[in-house]
Amino acid sequence: MSTTIAAISTPQAAGGLGVIRISGDDAILIASKVFRSKTGLELSRLQGYRATLGIIEENGEAVDEAVCLVFRAPRSYTGEDVVEFSCHGGLFVLQRTLRALFNAGAVPAQPGEFTKRAFLNGKKDLTEAEAVMSIISAQGEQAAKAALNALDGALSKKIKEINDILIGLCAHLSAWVDYPDEEIEELADGDISESLSTARSELDGLLSRFDAGQAITEGVNTAIVGRPNVGKSTLMNMLSGYNRSIVTSVAGTTRDVVEETVRLGDVILRLADTAGIHETDDTVESIGVDMAKQKLERADLVLAVFDSSQELTDEDEAILSYCKGKRSIAVINKTDLERCLDENKIRQITKNVVEISAKNNDGYEKLKNTVEALLGTDELDTASAMLTTERQRASVVKAVACIDEALAAFKMGMTLDAVNVSVDCAVEALLELTGQKASEAIVDEVFSRFCVGK
Ligand code: GDP
Repeated sequence: MSTTIAAISTPQAAGGLGVIRISGDDAILIASKVFRSKTGLELSRLQGYRATLGIIEENGEAVDEAVCLVFRAPRSYTGEDVVEFSCHGGLFVLQRTLRALFNAGAVPAQPGEFTKRAFLNGKKDLTEAEAVMSIISAQGEQAAKAALNALDGALSKKIKEINDILIGLCAHLSAWVDYPDEEIEELADGDISESLSTARSELDGLLSRFDAGQAITEGVNTAIVGRPNVGKSTLMNMLSGYNRSIVTSVAGTTRDVVEETVRLGDVILRLADTAGIHETDDTVESIGVDMAKQKLERADLVLAVFDSSQELTDEDEAILSYCKGKRSIAVINKTDLERCLDENKIRQITKNVVEISAKNNDGYEKLKNTVEALLGTDELDTASAMLTTERQRASVVKAVACIDEALAAFKMGMTLDAVNVSVDCAVEALLELTGQKASEAIVDEVFSRFCVGK
């Protein structure tokens, strides 16, 4: 028998509506202790997917008017009996309602516990549960679409298809190895390597789209570098000006590190250490270069800014040389001024060159298109299966390594038994991905990142 959990599922702030969710064997019984329907209808007699209007009471005193919605197991989010109260969205009233539910026998839900129960009751696999978090945190249209697809099982289906190939192969190999006397048809060599190669290329496809997927969901660590006065702060303002509402500042602990997040089209740029950018105005020039070097080391995308109204300086060249081998874009700024810069040196280092005038907000589209093309988000098909977390990626990397082992064993003419061991290891990795064979620690880790009430 499951305990009955309750939590406020809407944000901890005043709002038009506030939802309290209750799930567990006693959800309806506990809800009926604090809720009185206006029609006199007993909640226990309410069918699933039905709602009724009534009064929430604590110790016989009316707390709020609310709509009570009943879901009956297994046809609910968690797979258990679920009751949802849609209350007026005042936090005080919601907290009183929650307290009344605890007094009536519910216990506080842990972070992600509703979704964890959905997973444990087979309503969702682990990738679909992770998609719930992605939907909540999605900041752009593509990210939201991708999350919705994952929630709909796009990744699960793809992984199942791949695993079916591998499991079919395993079953055949095992039967052949274990029952040599039976008349089991031996798989042709071509079939074995073809199955393994097909599975591998499907997994490769998932891995190759991972970085682009991360760029629209988690964001890319981005460094804006350049010597003082080239227009880094102005560029920052141009970027954040377009999406000011989502700009966030996170104060660091050890020193005054600021991280701002801006959205460029569908790509999220995590602009770390922007405090440094604003400081360079007053600092000696060499610090600009040192700072650029440090920032470049941590960045996955570099926007190197140059001043088109001045000739390339040694400092510019030093910064350019740090960009070698990095995913970088040369941003030639101040194109509204008379040009003195010779771009050839820059183009020798990177073919990604964008001309802008940050001050005039000119060149935003060009910058957006170049960033999207460089990160591959312009061609990302959000309708196809995508890996969205590091955990998922790690499982796929492991599966690929096992398949490579199997292919190598096969090519070296090792026994089919040995090949089978590696194929089996790939299957295990993929079952871990979907959660069918994930350890408790992995499951706990996934749900620990959820919010309470989800
Ligand atoms: P930072 O030191 O690299 O952060 O440079 P700032 O963003 O502080 O810019 C330095 C100076 O250049 C400021 O006076 C800006 O107004 C100016 N500036 C920045 N971008 C442009 C531009 O596109 N055109 C022109 N004409 N001036 C610019």
